[in-house]
Amino acid sequence: MQIELDRVTIQFGSVTAVDQLSAAFRSGELVALLGPSGCGKSTTLFALAGIYKPTSGEVRFDGNVVNKLEPEDREIGMVFQNYALYPHMTVLDNILFPLKMKRTPKREALERARAMADTVQIGHLLDRRPGQLSGGQQQRVAIARALVKEPRLLLLDEPLSNLDARLRLEMREEIRRIQLQVGITTVFVTHDQEEAMSIADRIVLLQSGKLQQDAAPVAMYREPANLFAAQFIGTPPMNVLDGALSADGRTAVLEAAEPGARAVKIGVRPEDWTLAEAGAGSAVATAVVSHVETIGRDTLLRAQIGATPVRLYVPQERGAEVGEALRLNVRPGKAHVFDPASGARLA
Ligand code: ATP
Repeated sequence: MQIELDRVTIQFGSVTAVDQLSAAFRSGELVALLGPSGCGKSTTLFALAGIYKPTSGEVRFDGNVVNKLEPEDREIGMVFQNYALYPHMTVLDNILFPLKMKRTPKREALERARAMADTVQIGHLLDRRPGQLSGGQQQRVAIARALVKEPRLLLLDEPLSNLDARLRLEMREEIRRIQLQVGITTVFVTHDQEEAMSIADRIVLLQSGKLQQDAAPVAMYREPANLFAAQFIGTPPMNVLDGALSADGRTAVLEAAEPGARAVKIGVRPEDWTLAEAGAGSAVATAVVSHVETIGRDTLLRAQIGATPVRLYVPQERGAEVGEALRLNVRPGKAHVFDPASGARLA
């Protein structure tokens, strides 16, 4: 199912939780609603579910306005952070529950519940109660229960936040596998940029209820629309330095030099610095190393460019020492230029 949010605003008294949000999701896409705590992710998800109604603007499913449609009439499946399984029921009865509510004939209901349990790989756990399952297994039951009605839209609210780190990795791959197998349009709320980057077709990035960027993960990483996106996406985060843009707008430098130059913020990802070895031509900056961390293939350095702390990778064979001054350049096309006042991308 195709989803459109058209200038959706949601207010709670004087709080504007979602502010003029417009976005469109294609059928079969997995979209991550991403942003820091309080940015309006859950409120947006609840508006898709019909639990909250927009104060203004429209929510459309396949082109039809659904603002007034109640949750039970929206053909959605939802998985909450705490899974909300019925503790006194078996796994099978939990999965059957939505079909019982719809008065699906018993034989058909059983067939569908069993097939869905197999899809999420809990077919061997049907007689257990939720309390006898691991976190990951409970998560699978919640997904099966949400999908068994064959909804047109799957909504997931921070579904991985109650799992330990290893299980979180496993379950995010599982959610993607199940979503692709079922082919359902899915909206997934998370505050974890790495999680969003790793499984979403598209990321809708929010801050203070406002859309910051709507793009495929790689596009958002390569070409962040503003300083907020630049610093929210990627670990370690992008370095941001004071710089200047030449009067013709074509070259950015880390120090304001020529007259008429415009003050800007220049962003460089830790992997986009290169070392200008001694005597080998010019460098755009000099960084004094303050900390060296060896992590597998590369060495991550913390350093100072003037008063600004930066992070950069150097090849492990090269290494570096604390106190060493490194002459640096930026890979061609990898300097991101932003307006210091609005944060908007300039180049
Ligand atoms: P988190 O990651 O912490 O869950 P979020 O991005 O999902 O945050 P929301 O829960 O959507 O954020 O909240 C957005 C804003 O709206 C916050 O300022 C929050 O305090 C406010 N808010 C959310 N629900 C209500 C409500 N029912 N009544 C009043 N204010 C609310």
